[in-house]
Amino acid sequence: ATTVPTTMRASVLLRQGVIEMQERPVPTAADGEVLVRVGSVGVCGSDVHYYQHGRIGDMVVTAPIVLGHEVSGTVVAVGRGVPESRVGDRVAIDPQVPCRRCRQCKSGRSNLCPFMEFYATPPFDGTFCDYVTAPADQAYTVPDSLSDESAALLEPLSVGLWAAHKAGIGPGDRVLIAGAGPIGAMCAQAVRARGATDVVVTDFVDSRRERITSFGATRALHPVTDAEEIAALRADAFIDCSGATPAVLSGIAATRGGGTVVLVGLGAEEMPLPVQLIATREINVTGVFRYIDTWPRGIELVTSGAVHLDDMVTARYPLEQVEEALNADSDPLSMKAVVVVNAPEVN
Ligand code: NAD
Ligand code: ZN
Repeated sequence: ATTVPTTMRASVLLRQGVIEMQERPVPTAADGEVLVRVGSVGVCGSDVHYYQHGRIGDMVVTAPIVLGHEVSGTVVAVGRGVPESRVGDRVAIDPQVPCRRCRQCKSGRSNLCPFMEFYATPPFDGTFCDYVTAPADQAYTVPDSLSDESAALLEPLSVGLWAAHKAGIGPGDRVLIAGAGPIGAMCAQAVRARGATDVVVTDFVDSRRERITSFGATRALHPVTDAEEIAALRADAFIDCSGATPAVLSGIAATRGGGTVVLVGLGAEEMPLPVQLIATREINVTGVFRYIDTWPRGIELVTSGAVHLDDMVTARYPLEQVEEALNADSDPLSMKAVVVVNAPEVN
């Protein structure tokens, strides 16, 4: 059996803009939990936001916090009620821990549970550290063919899978996606996996438009110079992954009657909506907040080769360089920065 040390390394955000390596006690797996030795952690825009601004909306960093929530690793210990045989499993963790008892949880909307605990959302520590605990049923065993990095990126893929689900994408659909960042790329791959045949992604950034055709897009358009082509799309669904008001407005206008608009981007807090157009075209507008139970499907899609996650990684950093990883994320040439907390063990 693996010996688990009593202390570990943790990269801690002390306050806005200040990160420090600390030695912390290794957590213990409570009843029903597993203790996971962290492998890879993807850097998310929300980590960068907490680092740069110290808050996201009303979620404020008032005490030191460990960031990071896109995580994979290896089970090294189990709590009571979890079979010992899980030790050694390579896992990807669904970081949403809902209460499982409230009305939202019981009615199949656990992502909206008001008592949610989520890595790296104050006051809960995240995964830029050597060991984390998770409910055993949320640590999904991944096949050997999946790299630690792919396993970690099942988290942002999950946002794409849930958005594609909310958009009701089916075979032959035409989908417009605004924003060719990591989330736009996840959505593009997710809608392709559901059978969409025409996937149009827009972005201002040339390099992002060029790259997105390797990640699900069949066409990449410029929001301004290709505005006419976008306006004439009559898409079955529009998924906003930009958070930008002009993108949302042109996306709604490009959606066919009876089509669906899914708002994933969290940018502008408020924006004017073309309500007459939404009414007369009977457009369904909905939001997306994370995902529900998407890991099994994500593992299947990556294993079968329908979705590519490894190619999305544009930079790697050791745990000591979390700050560099967070700064790298704002470079438009970067797609996905990953912190390799513990390299895979060679056997
Ligand atoms: P990102 O900033 O890397 O990508 C956004 C892209 O949109 C950029 O490439 C930018 O150039 C592009 N863009 C800006 N204005 C545009 C316009 N008018 N038309 C087309 N493209 C435009 O961000 P990301 O990490 O890919 O995340 C995308 C969004 O999704 C963010 O707002 C993030 O907060 C949100 N998000 C939401 C959830 C959720 O559960 N709802 C989960 C994860 C991320
Ligand atoms: Zn709940």
